[in-house]
Amino acid sequence: MRIVVPKETQPGETRVALAPEVCKKLVKAGYTIAIESGAGSLAYYTDDAYREVGVVVESDPAALFGSADLVLSVNAPAIGGAAGRNEVAWMRPGTTILTSLMPLKNLDVVRALAERKVTSFSTDAIPRTTRAQAMDTLSSMASIRGYKGALLAAAELPKYFPMFMTAAGTVFPAKVFVIGAAVAGLQAIATAKRLGANVVATDVRPEVKEEIESLGAKFVGFELSGSASAGGGYAKELSAEDKKRQQEMLAEQCTIADVVITTALIGGVFAPKVISGDMVRQMRRGSVLMDLGADGGGNCELSKIGHTVVEHGITIMAPLNLPATMPTHASLLFGRNLAAFVETFTKDKAFQIDLTDDIQKGAIITHEGAVVHEATKKAM
Ligand code: NAD
Repeated sequence: MRIVVPKETQPGETRVALAPEVCKKLVKAGYTIAIESGAGSLAYYTDDAYREVGVVVESDPAALFGSADLVLSVNAPAIGGAAGRNEVAWMRPGTTILTSLMPLKNLDVVRALAERKVTSFSTDAIPRTTRAQAMDTLSSMASIRGYKGALLAAAELPKYFPMFMTAAGTVFPAKVFVIGAAVAGLQAIATAKRLGANVVATDVRPEVKEEIESLGAKFVGFELSGSASAGGGYAKELSAEDKKRQQEMLAEQCTIADVVITTALIGGVFAPKVISGDMVRQMRRGSVLMDLGADGGGNCELSKIGHTVVEHGITIMAPLNLPATMPTHASLLFGRNLAAFVETFTKDKAFQIDLTDDIQKGAIITHEGAVVHEATKKAM
């Protein structure tokens, strides 16, 4: 089975689907891997580093895609546009691709993959089960978002995060308020705590209280009138009544926080607007709002997605694709997740499609010329 890794072409992308360390393991296990020349350069992995572990480096992307049995990439394949390459057309019918396809955001690509009879698996659709944990790119990348988001907020704050007792007197620790405590939020809490801040956090799923407290932070919340669970650990939108009560609680916490970090997502995709313009106006001047919901459209009404703005003396940051700011480790972890998927479902060095398997059944998007993923079919 020939595994092919292309250079990513999405603007701002610096990651590569496999780091040399992961290639080394796969080559040792008997896989043939070919990579596009320069694919790892923005993640500081040179062509020579790949050659050293037995990977073939190719400079013609069309030939590379055309030779693949299995394509591994970070983002959905290009179908023309600014990249000037139609990677789907380059693949032979019957090729399999494993990538963070984000099918609901890339319906045109999904359509093209189905027409080309390419079998596609989206890592974003892998069920969040214990068995699938090692393959979960959403978790590895969310963890980077939480970590880097907390660091960037700390760097922007005109104050220390930790308490300092100095010859010039004592300064008190910064107060950090984290909204949403799943993978990104818990990592933001842990990072802010390690930097010495006082951390308070909330979530609409009350079951995360214990996890927040185990990191040494304080949980704030309120009793919901209805359930906020959409199943699979994901949250759904709050009722109008709960939203109003939550807004009061959030407003109160925002007025006393030096840093607010938002990570709220609905269904893992869409960011609810939990912070209104009025809440920002009530915050202390010099405070920082880090909107880690930016990739999902933003959690704050005043966020300018992909930019940092100062409104009413508050710095509002809404960075996109934070994993791309740490491409060396982001690529390493992303590739380990892909390798876990490949190794689990390969027999005699051939990828085995098995739609009775819950992981494959959840992650498959197109197969044998059709769109087979229910939510994507519905969106089409
Ligand atoms: P996510 O990015 O979908 O959501 C982030 C958080 O925002 C969630 O905790 C959610 O409850 C919260 N949220 C949504 N609306 C909110 C609001 N209005 N106010 C405050 N908070 C709000 O979450 P994720 O990191 O993708 O994780 C999703 C689920 O999967 C979680 O339950 C997580 O524990 C679980 N998970 C399981 C595994 C596994 O077992 N393999 C791995 C990772 C995550």
